[in-house]
Amino acid sequence: MTGPDALEAALRPRLPSPLEEIADGRFARHGVRLLLKRDDLIHPELVGNKWRKLAPNLAAADGRPLVTFGGAYSNHLRATAAAGRLLGVPTIGVVRGEELAGRPLNPSLARCAADGMRLRFVDRTTYRRKAEPEVLRAVLRAADAEEAYVVPEGGSNAPAVRGCRALGEELRGRADVVGIACGTGGTLAGLAAGLGPGQRALGTPVLRGGFLGDEIRRLQDLAFGGPRGDWSLDERFHCGGYARTTPELDAFAQDFEDRHGLAVERLYVAKLLYGLFALAAEGAFEAGTSVAAVITA
Ligand SMILES: *Cc1c(COP(=O)(O)O)cnc(C)c1O
Repeated sequence: MTGPDALEAALRPRLPSPLEEIADGRFARHGVRLLLKRDDLIHPELVGNKWRKLAPNLAAADGRPLVTFGGAYSNHLRATAAAGRLLGVPTIGVVRGEELAGRPLNPSLARCAADGMRLRFVDRTTYRRKAEPEVLRAVLRAADAEEAYVVPEGGSNAPAVRGCRALGEELRGRADVVGIACGTGGTLAGLAAGLGPGQRALGTPVLRGGFLGDEIRRLQDLAFGGPRGDWSLDERFHCGGYARTTPELDAFAQDFEDRHGLAVERLYVAKLLYGLFALAAEGAFEAGTSVAAVITA
Protein backbone atom coordinates (compact mmCIF):
# COMPACT_ATOMS: atom_id res chain seq x y z
CA MET A 1 0.00 0.00 0.00
CA THR A 2 1.21 3.47 -0.81
CA GLY A 3 -1.54 5.65 0.62
CA PRO A 4 -0.62 9.19 1.66
CA ASP A 5 0.04 8.13 5.25
CA ALA A 6 2.37 5.31 4.22
CA LEU A 7 4.21 7.77 1.97
CA GLU A 8 4.65 10.26 4.80
CA ALA A 9 5.91 7.51 7.08
CA ALA A 10 8.43 6.29 4.50
CA LEU A 11 9.66 9.65 3.24
CA ARG A 12 9.16 11.88 6.30
CA PRO A 13 8.77 15.20 4.52
CA ARG A 14 9.29 18.32 6.61
CA LEU A 15 5.85 19.89 6.36
CA PRO A 16 4.78 22.60 6.57
CA SER A 17 8.07 23.87 5.18
CA PRO A 18 9.70 26.69 7.19
CA LEU A 19 8.97 30.36 6.48
CA GLU A 20 11.88 32.70 7.26
CA GLU A 21 12.15 36.46 7.07
CA ILE A 22 15.40 37.89 5.75
CA ALA A 23 16.68 41.44 6.08
CA ASP A 24 17.63 43.07 2.81
CA GLY A 25 17.91 46.83 2.40
CA ARG A 26 16.67 46.66 -1.17
CA PHE A 27 13.26 45.62 0.16
CA ALA A 28 13.40 47.42 3.52
CA ARG A 29 13.94 50.80 1.89
CA HIS A 30 10.54 50.46 0.22
CA GLY A 31 8.90 49.35 3.45
CA VAL A 32 8.47 45.83 2.05
CA ARG A 33 9.21 42.60 3.98
CA LEU A 34 10.88 39.65 2.26
CA LEU A 35 10.22 36.10 3.42
CA LEU A 36 11.60 32.82 2.13
CA LYS A 37 9.28 29.81 1.98
CA ARG A 38 11.80 27.00 2.30
CA ASP A 39 10.33 24.21 0.17
CA ASP A 40 13.94 23.22 -0.52
CA LEU A 41 13.97 21.80 3.02
CA ILE A 42 10.99 19.45 2.53
CA HIS A 43 13.16 16.47 1.69
CA PRO A 44 16.92 16.08 1.26
CA GLU A 45 16.61 13.80 -1.78
CA LEU A 46 13.50 14.87 -3.62
CA VAL A 47 15.13 17.70 -5.56
CA GLY A 48 13.25 20.91 -5.90
CA ASN A 49 9.70 21.33 -4.73
CA LYS A 50 8.84 18.01 -6.29
CA TRP A 51 7.50 16.37 -3.15
CA ARG A 52 4.22 18.24 -3.40
CA LYS A 53 3.66 17.09 -6.98
CA LEU A 54 4.99 13.57 -6.65
CA ALA A 55 3.35 12.42 -3.44
CA PRO A 56 -0.23 12.33 -4.82
CA ASN A 57 0.98 10.53 -7.94
CA LEU A 58 2.89 7.93 -5.94
CA ALA A 59 -0.27 7.33 -3.95
CA ALA A 60 -2.35 6.99 -7.13
CA ALA A 61 0.20 4.61 -8.70
CA ASP A 62 -0.39 2.32 -5.73
CA GLY A 63 2.77 0.29 -6.21
CA ARG A 64 2.73 0.12 -10.02
CA PRO A 65 5.96 1.13 -11.76
CA LEU A 66 6.09 4.82 -12.56
CA VAL A 67 7.00 6.11 -16.01
CA THR A 68 7.85 9.72 -16.54
CA PHE A 69 9.61 12.07 -18.95
CA GLY A 70 12.30 14.70 -18.86
CA GLY A 71 15.35 16.33 -20.35
CA ALA A 72 18.87 15.26 -19.45
CA TYR A 73 19.02 17.63 -16.44
CA SER A 74 15.45 17.28 -15.22
CA ASN A 75 14.90 17.80 -11.48
CA HIS A 76 11.64 15.96 -11.91
CA LEU A 77 13.39 12.80 -13.16
CA ARG A 78 15.84 13.01 -10.25
CA ALA A 79 13.05 13.36 -7.71
CA THR A 80 11.04 10.52 -9.23
CA ALA A 81 14.05 8.22 -9.19
CA ALA A 82 14.82 9.07 -5.56
CA ALA A 83 11.22 8.51 -4.50
CA GLY A 84 11.22 5.19 -6.33
CA ARG A 85 14.29 4.01 -4.46
CA LEU A 86 12.99 5.17 -1.08
CA LEU A 87 9.62 3.49 -1.61
CA GLY A 88 10.74 0.41 -3.51
CA VAL A 89 8.72 1.45 -6.58
CA PRO A 90 10.30 0.69 -9.98
CA THR A 91 10.76 3.83 -12.10
CA ILE A 92 11.35 4.33 -15.79
CA GLY A 93 12.60 7.64 -17.16
CA VAL A 94 12.01 8.54 -20.80
CA VAL A 95 14.74 11.02 -21.68
CA ARG A 96 14.72 13.49 -24.56
CA GLY A 97 17.63 12.90 -26.96
CA GLU A 98 18.43 9.65 -28.69
CA GLU A 99 22.03 10.76 -29.08
CA LEU A 100 22.53 10.40 -25.31
CA ALA A 101 22.13 6.63 -25.46
CA GLY A 102 25.43 4.82 -25.17
CA ARG A 103 27.28 7.92 -23.94
CA PRO A 104 28.48 8.37 -20.38
CA LEU A 105 25.58 9.67 -18.27
CA ASN A 106 25.72 13.23 -17.01
CA PRO A 107 25.72 13.57 -13.17
CA SER A 108 21.96 14.10 -13.04
CA LEU A 109 21.14 11.00 -15.09
CA ALA A 110 23.84 9.02 -13.31
CA ARG A 111 22.05 9.81 -10.05
CA CYS A 112 18.75 8.61 -11.57
CA ALA A 113 20.38 5.36 -12.68
CA ALA A 114 22.02 4.87 -9.28
CA ASP A 115 18.58 5.22 -7.72
CA GLY A 116 17.42 2.35 -9.90
CA MET A 117 15.61 4.32 -12.60
CA ARG A 118 15.56 2.54 -15.95
CA LEU A 119 16.44 5.12 -18.62
CA ARG A 120 15.04 5.07 -22.15
CA PHE A 121 16.30 7.61 -24.66
CA VAL A 122 13.99 8.76 -27.42
CA ASP A 123 14.50 11.05 -30.39
CA ARG A 124 13.24 14.60 -30.17
CA THR A 125 10.32 14.16 -32.57
CA THR A 126 8.96 11.23 -30.61
CA TYR A 127 9.59 13.10 -27.38
CA ARG A 128 7.63 16.13 -28.57
CA ARG A 129 4.68 13.91 -29.48
CA LYS A 130 4.74 11.79 -26.31
CA ALA A 131 1.32 12.96 -25.10
CA GLU A 132 -0.38 11.58 -28.24
CA PRO A 133 -1.97 8.25 -27.28
CA GLU A 134 -0.41 6.30 -30.21
CA VAL A 135 3.07 7.62 -29.55
CA LEU A 136 2.76 7.10 -25.80
CA ARG A 137 1.64 3.49 -26.30
CA ALA A 138 4.62 2.80 -28.54
CA VAL A 139 7.04 4.37 -26.05
CA LEU A 140 5.58 2.32 -23.19
CA ARG A 141 5.70 -0.86 -25.25
CA ALA A 142 9.33 -0.28 -26.17
CA ALA A 143 10.13 0.32 -22.50
CA ASP A 144 8.29 -2.85 -21.50
CA ALA A 145 6.10 -0.71 -19.26
CA GLU A 146 2.60 -1.02 -20.63
CA GLU A 147 1.07 -1.45 -17.16
CA ALA A 148 2.92 1.47 -15.64
CA TYR A 149 1.44 4.62 -14.12
CA VAL A 150 2.30 7.56 -16.35
CA VAL A 151 3.29 10.94 -14.93
CA PRO A 152 3.72 13.69 -17.56
CA GLU A 153 6.89 15.67 -18.15
CA GLY A 154 7.60 17.99 -15.24
CA GLY A 155 5.11 16.03 -13.14
CA SER A 156 2.21 18.44 -13.66
CA ASN A 157 -1.10 16.60 -13.87
CA ALA A 158 -4.33 17.03 -11.92
CA PRO A 159 -3.22 15.18 -8.75
CA ALA A 160 0.06 17.14 -8.76
CA VAL A 161 -1.70 20.49 -9.07
CA ARG A 162 -4.12 19.57 -6.28
CA GLY A 163 -1.11 18.54 -4.17
CA CYS A 164 0.41 22.01 -4.59
CA ARG A 165 -2.66 23.64 -3.07
CA ALA A 166 -1.10 22.80 0.31
CA LEU A 167 1.74 25.23 -0.45
CA GLY A 168 -0.81 28.05 -0.68
CA GLU A 169 -2.65 26.85 2.41
CA GLU A 170 0.57 26.90 4.44
CA LEU A 171 1.02 30.56 3.43
CA ARG A 172 -2.52 31.74 4.29
CA GLY A 173 -2.34 34.97 6.23
CA ARG A 174 1.46 34.95 6.13
CA ALA A 175 2.26 37.09 3.05
CA ASP A 176 0.48 39.40 0.60
CA VAL A 177 2.36 38.31 -2.51
CA VAL A 178 3.87 34.88 -3.11
CA GLY A 179 6.52 34.63 -5.83
CA ILE A 180 7.37 31.36 -7.52
CA ALA A 181 9.52 30.35 -10.49
CA CYS A 182 7.57 28.42 -13.11
CA GLY A 183 8.56 25.61 -15.43
CA THR A 184 5.35 23.80 -16.35
CA GLY A 185 3.28 26.12 -14.12
CA GLY A 186 1.77 23.25 -12.16
CA THR A 187 3.08 24.46 -8.82
CA LEU A 188 1.71 27.98 -9.39
CA ALA A 189 -1.66 26.58 -10.51
CA GLY A 190 -2.03 24.73 -7.19
CA LEU A 191 -0.43 27.39 -5.01
CA ALA A 192 -2.86 30.07 -6.25
CA ALA A 193 -5.80 27.80 -5.45
CA GLY A 194 -4.61 27.36 -1.86
CA LEU A 195 -4.03 31.02 -0.98
CA GLY A 196 -6.53 32.95 1.13
CA PRO A 197 -8.45 36.17 0.39
CA GLY A 198 -6.31 39.21 -0.40
CA GLN A 199 -3.28 37.12 -1.29
CA ARG A 200 -1.88 36.80 -4.79
CA ALA A 201 0.63 34.58 -6.54
CA LEU A 202 3.22 35.98 -8.93
CA GLY A 203 4.98 33.58 -11.30
CA THR A 204 8.26 34.14 -13.09
CA PRO A 205 8.54 31.69 -16.02
CA VAL A 206 12.06 30.35 -16.65
CA LEU A 207 11.18 29.38 -20.24
CA ARG A 208 10.57 31.89 -22.96
CA GLY A 209 7.55 31.81 -25.19
CA GLY A 210 4.64 33.40 -23.36
CA PHE A 211 2.53 30.22 -23.47
CA LEU A 212 2.40 29.61 -19.75
CA GLY A 213 -0.73 31.60 -18.88
CA ASP A 214 -2.85 29.35 -21.10
CA GLU A 215 -1.16 26.27 -19.68
CA ILE A 216 -1.91 27.33 -16.09
CA ARG A 217 -5.57 27.93 -16.98
CA ARG A 218 -5.66 24.47 -18.57
CA LEU A 219 -4.10 22.87 -15.48
CA GLN A 220 -6.56 24.62 -13.14
CA ASP A 221 -9.45 23.43 -15.31
CA LEU A 222 -8.12 19.90 -15.15
CA ALA A 223 -7.47 19.95 -11.39
CA PHE A 224 -10.34 22.10 -10.10
CA GLY A 225 -12.83 22.41 -12.95
CA GLY A 226 -12.20 26.14 -13.41
CA PRO A 227 -10.01 29.11 -12.52
CA ARG A 228 -8.85 29.49 -8.92
CA GLY A 229 -7.13 32.23 -6.95
CA ASP A 230 -5.46 35.49 -7.91
CA TRP A 231 -2.33 34.95 -9.95
CA SER A 232 -0.30 36.63 -12.66
CA LEU A 233 2.94 36.08 -14.54
CA ASP A 234 5.84 38.39 -15.21
CA GLU A 235 7.54 37.07 -18.33
CA ARG A 236 10.57 39.38 -18.19
CA PHE A 237 12.95 37.29 -16.12
CA HIS A 238 13.71 34.12 -18.11
CA CYS A 239 17.16 35.52 -19.00
CA GLY A 240 17.18 33.89 -22.43
CA GLY A 241 15.29 30.69 -21.63
CA TYR A 242 15.64 27.41 -19.77
CA ALA A 243 19.14 26.91 -18.31
CA ARG A 244 20.26 30.17 -19.96
CA THR A 245 21.83 32.88 -17.91
CA THR A 246 23.17 36.40 -18.23
CA PRO A 247 26.12 38.10 -16.52
CA GLU A 248 23.60 40.20 -14.53
CA LEU A 249 21.78 37.10 -13.28
CA ASP A 250 25.03 35.39 -12.27
CA ALA A 251 26.26 38.50 -10.47
CA PHE A 252 22.93 38.91 -8.70
CA ALA A 253 22.85 35.27 -7.53
CA GLN A 254 26.46 35.36 -6.35
CA ASP A 255 25.84 38.58 -4.44
CA PHE A 256 22.69 37.14 -2.84
CA GLU A 257 24.65 34.10 -1.70
CA ASP A 258 27.37 36.32 -0.22
CA ARG A 259 24.89 38.54 1.62
CA HIS A 260 22.56 35.87 2.93
CA GLY A 261 24.64 32.70 3.12
CA LEU A 262 22.08 30.72 1.15
CA ALA A 263 23.01 28.73 -1.95
CA VAL A 264 20.85 29.92 -4.84
CA GLU A 265 19.76 27.25 -7.33
CA ARG A 266 20.40 28.69 -10.77
CA LEU A 267 17.74 27.20 -13.07
CA TYR A 268 14.70 28.50 -11.20
CA VAL A 269 15.33 30.18 -7.87
CA ALA A 270 17.92 32.68 -9.13
CA LYS A 271 15.49 33.95 -11.77
CA LEU A 272 12.67 34.28 -9.24
CA LEU A 273 14.77 36.28 -6.78
CA TYR A 274 16.23 38.38 -9.58
CA GLY A 275 12.70 39.18 -10.73
CA LEU A 276 11.42 40.00 -7.24
CA PHE A 277 14.36 42.33 -6.55
CA ALA A 278 13.80 44.05 -9.91
CA LEU A 279 10.12 44.52 -9.05
CA ALA A 280 10.99 45.90 -5.62
CA ALA A 281 13.41 48.36 -7.25
CA GLU A 282 10.66 49.45 -9.65
CA GLY A 283 8.40 50.16 -6.69
CA ALA A 284 5.97 47.44 -7.73
CA PHE A 285 5.25 46.51 -4.09
CA GLU A 286 3.49 49.07 -1.91
CA ALA A 287 4.94 49.96 1.47
CA GLY A 288 3.62 47.54 4.08
CA THR A 289 3.51 44.61 1.65
CA SER A 290 5.07 41.29 2.59
CA VAL A 291 6.48 39.19 -0.23
CA ALA A 292 7.22 35.48 0.18
CA ALA A 293 9.61 33.91 -2.32
CA VAL A 294 9.16 30.17 -2.65
CA ILE A 295 12.63 28.62 -2.52
CA THR A 296 11.87 25.55 -4.57
CA ALA A 297 15.39 24.08 -4.46
C1 LIG B 1 10.29 21.90 -11.10
C2 LIG B 1 10.77 23.12 -10.44
C3 LIG B 1 10.04 24.34 -10.44
C4 LIG B 1 8.81 24.59 -11.26
O1 LIG B 1 7.74 23.79 -11.06
P1 LIG B 1 6.55 23.74 -12.14
O2 LIG B 1 5.46 23.14 -11.38
O3 LIG B 1 7.03 22.87 -13.26
O4 LIG B 1 6.28 25.12 -12.63
C5 LIG B 1 10.53 25.41 -9.73
N1 LIG B 1 11.70 25.30 -9.07
C6 LIG B 1 12.43 24.17 -9.07
C7 LIG B 1 13.70 24.15 -8.35
C8 LIG B 1 12.00 23.05 -9.75
O5 LIG B 1 12.76 21.94 -9.75
